[in-house]
Amino acid sequence: MRLANVAGRATLLLSETEGVDVAEASDGAFGPDPAAVYRDWEAFRKWADTAPRRRTVPVSRADLDSPSPEPRQILAIGLNYAEHAAESGFAAPETLPPTFTKFASALSGPDTTVALPDGGTTDWEVELVVVMGRTTHRVAEADAWSAVAGLTVGQDLSERITQSAGPAPQFGLGKSFTGFAPVGPWLVTPDEFPDPDDLALGCRIDGTIVQDGRTRDLIFPVPALIARLSRVLTLYPGDLVFTGTPSGVGIGRTPQRFLAPGERLVSWVEGIGELHQTFVAEQPEV
Ligand code: ZN
Repeated sequence: MRLANVAGRATLLLSETEGVDVAEASDGAFGPDPAAVYRDWEAFRKWADTAPRRRTVPVSRADLDSPSPEPRQILAIGLNYAEHAAESGFAAPETLPPTFTKFASALSGPDTTVALPDGGTTDWEVELVVVMGRTTHRVAEADAWSAVAGLTVGQDLSERITQSAGPAPQFGLGKSFTGFAPVGPWLVTPDEFPDPDDLALGCRIDGTIVQDGRTRDLIFPVPALIARLSRVLTLYPGDLVFTGTPSGVGIGRTPQRFLAPGERLVSWVEGIGELHQTFVAEQPEV
């Protein structure tokens, strides 16, 4: 199943340009708020399997927003691919990966224009993003996929100076400028993939591929990650987990390279779709 947020309404996709409005087709039992469907995810999944598809609505990319628009938590994982840990100058994590938050105000839909903060050190990180489908605490690794509503594409845009400013590194602020968490273009349920643990992902800047990896190289794959996170905290329906980025980020290059105004970044995960970001210079403060 593919579920999109089309102008604030939960929409089951029949194709990339046509869908079924959830609230209308369910006579108000589910939706229209896309955030609400995650709170009743298992009932929603059962309904969606046999949802009436008589009346369809057109879907335009310009109307898409984050498939989970109001997550209570947005977690992001660092150093979860060995080659990326190496290019970042860190040892690969063994027991628990570095975990930080992207603040909710950074969240956006899939196609956006993003203002680059001063400093010229904003970097790209394509990531597979997990959307949680139930309240999850201390779930076993073997059961972790069943707690997941679906997968989507995310960009963990990262301003590297803010990330390392101060007496100790602090990832949250540098990764939470406005528009620094584009997500989408829609949610795809795990059963749609031949193997949800092995998906190609990457991104390109103005046509040049800069990241090209596979999620089978995750040090902590989705089930291991959800199990370990849920030993510490409770994950809620609709929560987003950015699972980490493969190698090829700008700060790991020689010479280093960062995003510039006018550039266009396209990010993808196999079997899901693409994000499209265009960058402009930050406007002066008023
Ligand atoms: Zn990241």
